[in-house]
Formats: sequence, C-alpha cells, structure tokens
Amino acid sequence: MTPRLWAAVALGGLAVALLVAAVLLVPWHRPPAPRADQLDALRDLPQEQVRRGREFHAALRPGSYGAMALGLAVALALGLSPLGSRLVELVGRPFGDHWVARAVLGGLAIVLVAEVVTLPLAAWRHTIMVRYGLSTQTWAGWTVDVLKSYAVSAVIAAIALLGFYTVTRLAPRWWWAFGAAGAAALVVLLSFVLPVLVEPVFNKFTPMEPGPLRTELISLAQRDGVPVKDVLVADASRRTRAVNAYVSGLGPTRRIVVYDTLLREAPPQEVASVVAHELGHAKDRDVLTGTLLGALGAAAAVVALYLLGGWGWLLRAAGVESMGEPRALALMVAVVSLAGIVAAPAQSLVSRRVEARADAHALELTGDPGTFESMQRRLSTVNLGDPDPPRWEYLYSASHPSTVERMAAARAFARGER
Ligand SMILES: [Zn+2]
Repeated sequence: MTPRLWAAVALGGLAVALLVAAVLLVPWHRPPAPRADQLDALRDLPQEQVRRGREFHAALRPGSYGAMALGLAVALALGLSPLGSRLVELVGRPFGDHWVARAVLGGLAIVLVAEVVTLPLAAWRHTIMVRYGLSTQTWAGWTVDVLKSYAVSAVIAAIALLGFYTVTRLAPRWWWAFGAAGAAALVVLLSFVLPVLVEPVFNKFTPMEPGPLRTELISLAQRDGVPVKDVLVADASRRTRAVNAYVSGLGPTRRIVVYDTLLREAPPQEVASVVAHELGHAKDRDVLTGTLLGALGAAAAVVALYLLGGWGWLLRAAGVESMGEPRALALMVAVVSLAGIVAAPAQSLVSRRVEARADAHALELTGDPGTFESMQRRLSTVNLGDPDPPRWEYLYSASHPSTVERMAAARAFARGER
C-alpha cells in the first residue's frame, strides 16, 4: 500500500471515530421545547427589550458577515493563486530562504494580511458595541486587546508551524501521520494550558471573596458531587457590561469562572443558577468532549490536507510543488478557512445540544425553574441578546439555545416534563 492509500484509510477511520464520538458523547435525545411554548415565552418579554436586541444585532451583522466574507476572499485569493507562495518567498528572502523563516514568518504574514484587511470591520463592530453601551472599552483598551490576541495567536501558530514543517521535512511521504498525531496533541495541550497561560493575558482572575454566596456555590458543587476548589471571578467589567460565566481547563486546570459583571447585575439566586449550569458542564465533562472532538477534527484536517496535495491543479493554481512545503502555507490557510465556514453549523448544533444539557442540569440541581427563567431574561437584557434570532443565523452560528428556548425549557420543567 502507498502512503496515499494509507492516508485515505486513516481519514476514513478518523471520520468514523469522529462520528461515533459525536453520536455517543453529544446529548442528541433532548430536542428543543415546542415552538408554541417558545412563542409564548417571547410574548412575555418586554417588547422594547426585544426590539433593542434585534436592532443591535442588525447593526452588528454587516460588520460580522462582511469580515467573514472578506477574510475568506483574502484567504482564497492568496491560496488559490501564486500570490500567497510569493509572499512566503518574500518574507523568507532576508533570511536566505531558510525554511524556518518561510514557515514561521510566512505563516504569520499570510494570517496578518487577512487580519489587517478585516481590522476596519472589527473596529466598526467596536463602535456599535460602544454606542449601545455594551462595551466599556476605550480605543486604547481595544487596541491593546487586538495586539494581545495577535501576539497569543502568533506564538501558538509559530509553535504549530515549526512542528509541522519539521515533520514534513523529516518524513516527506508520511508527514500526514505524524502531523495528525501532533495536531491532536496540540488541541489537548491547549485545553490544559489555555486557562493558565492564555486567559490571564486578557483578564485578571481572583478567587471569589468569602461570604454567603461563595459558601452557597461551593456547597452547591458539593451537593452535585463535582469537586470545585474555588470559583474564580474575572474582571470582565474592564471591557464589557455583558454578563457571563464559563468552565475551562481539564483535570488540574479545570475552573469555574464568573464575570464580575454577573455578580454586580444578578441577585445571588440567579448567580447560583448560572453556576449550576456551569457545574453541569463540569459534571458531564463537556470540556473533555469538546477537546476529543476537536482533536479528532484536527487530525482529520491534516490528513485531508495531505490528500488534497494529490490534486495537481490545486498545487499548480497555488504555484507550489507539494502541500508539505512552506510555500503552500497560503493554500492550506485557504482550505482551512473554507472548511471552518462549512463546519460552523455542525459545531453550533453540537454546542447547542451540550448547552441544553447543562441547562437541564441547572434546573434539576436547583429545582428552581422560576429563578432560571429570570436569570435567562436578565442575561438576554443585559447582553442585548436577540431572544429569538432569525432561523438561518441560529442554525449557522448559535452556540447556545435561544433565550425563548431556554425559558420554554424552564417552563416545561416546572410542569413536570423532564
Ligand atoms: Zn454553558
């Protein structure tokens, strides 16, 4: 068997593994509440709030989708023409065309072009967030955030690119196998280290102050059988009025984080309801599930890239000889960008099902659907959410059930439907 045939078999195996993992680990058996119940919930919301949320999202849309389209157009223009390979050559030239310079600086140059082109649209989004009072950031703070996120991405990309092109040089015929293993390992590593290495770049995290709320949250976690050493508070208020909470990390780096804005905006019972949802993520090992699906997806992507390298016309369009050389970087970025846009609806669907399970967990743990519903209303109001977003947008990108779905789920729970 040739390496190409092995790669095709491996890709098939990874696709099956991804499918099996998704079937077994994602809670598919929990369909959203009936539409009629959702519409009832929508009618109970203040119309002024619904109108304002919709107006806000309509204002953001051109910037969001414009940036997506423009980013993709730039990636395709660079990757499917010799422009991208020439850019990689150009940045490698001062370094004697050394492969390390081409791999790392070339990769950063390609990504930077797409980032810079879409930067005005990101700035436009920021002005809208400020106008609607959601963002509390000055231009200086916003710029520092942009630069920090470039720096973090650059470090991660440099490590990945250096590893990848070392492998393609050492094993020109079998790089896809080592590359797939490396990509999967990187996803797992990132899940561990993001909370301790990357999140602190953007926010300060402090243990929640001792007091009745902290005591209640820790005892909630104990009652739930989830070992939680501490609840951390993030200083989100430095950039936003939005309220939120999340779990991240694996094993020793697992943590539950609440925004300081949530503690300011919501009464303690609603904070407990939010934390009960996060405990659901911890108990059902949702970060682990996400990491596993991500690792399988990343491995499959590397093998797929190798196989695409067998298409002569694609390589000719990009002006390169093989997928494994740094000059083919722009071609890879183009393929990955396109795949990301195509895969978004599936990722959103998986995420919504996992989030719905965490909601059900919160309802069961607190036994308090009334507070859960008022918490959902508050989240939507403060975050300027659209409680019932357009169907196409929901299917394409909603990571959580809509507010009306979550309210309807709470009402179904109150009626005794589990
Ligand atoms: Zn969640």
